[in-house]
Amino acid sequence: MSSIGFIGLGNMGGPMAQNLVKAGHAVTGFDVVPAAIEAAKAAGITPAADARAAAAEADVVITMLPAGEHVRAVYTGPDGIIAAAKAGALLIDCSTIDVNSARAVHAAAAEAGLDMLDAPVSGGVAGAANATLTFMVGGSDAAFARAKPIFEAMGRNVVHAGGAGNGQAAKVCNNMILGITMIGISEAFALAEKLGLEAQKLFDISSKSSGSCWAMLNHLPVPGIVETSAANRDYKPGFAAAMMHKDLKLSQEAAAQAGAATPLGAEATALYTMFVNAGNGGLDYSAIIKMIRGT
Ligand code: NAD
Repeated sequence: MSSIGFIGLGNMGGPMAQNLVKAGHAVTGFDVVPAAIEAAKAAGITPAADARAAAAEADVVITMLPAGEHVRAVYTGPDGIIAAAKAGALLIDCSTIDVNSARAVHAAAAEAGLDMLDAPVSGGVAGAANATLTFMVGGSDAAFARAKPIFEAMGRNVVHAGGAGNGQAAKVCNNMILGITMIGISEAFALAEKLGLEAQKLFDISSKSSGSCWAMLNHLPVPGIVETSAANRDYKPGFAAAMMHKDLKLSQEAAAQAGAATPLGAEATALYTMFVNAGNGGLDYSAIIKMIRGT
């Protein structure tokens, strides 16, 4: 059993922290939104007055925050958790953020003599609630070995992706594939409609042929075929288009910094920008088929 400080008790962090309590850990939590702290308290998490207080006594500090700017603010500076953490504490950031911010925070932690991991997740709110998340982890072998049982209390697949920032690198590469493939599937199913080919027939053929992919098998953008599709629920997320847009933008930031050519990633980012700017950020990312159909 560890003493864990958990900062960022939102849609993902709230249920993740609850699973740590269920696994027998003593969890102290903080969020800037009082309602999130109240919900956590009801689930057995001890509330802290601020991020520093949540971190100060913890063996392990976990953060689950919106973006890189929040992570930098919470970790660094005189009021940050790096300054507050006790000697030997392990820091784990599970937020999805840009690779540069992740590496900058790793460096600040190393300077203070603290181990750190970047460990973004996939699996969404359902994965957080059911402890079936996938963790993509960047950092040292020793820190990874120490954190593995903690990840296993919140998820099912835990992969060590390499050194500092490689968890975030894996996340942006994976989600760039997902965004591109969702657009490809949407184009194919919209084309099939125009050609008079039933969606069910295309699915029966393609899902067992060379066009098959994870997004088709799990998030098919047309209703009535795949049980887990948001299309069956009027595109209620699921994985919101705004989140896909965020992850695609991170992929393009990373590509520009690394000098990598990602022309389809760039196109997918532009299409999701149009879709989100048209007021669709709250729909599931598979709803992009509506824009592709022109409806
Ligand atoms: P969320 O907005 O529900 O939760 C973030 C929480 O952080 C909020 O409760 C917010 O009040 C809190 N917060 C912000 N600044 C803070 C600060 N300075 N100190 C303490 N708390 C602070 O978002 P979420 O859906 O839980 O996502 C969290 C992260 O996980 C994001 O980076 C997101 O991209 C990633 N993610 C989300 C999903 C998903 O399906 N929701 C899936 C995979 C990854």
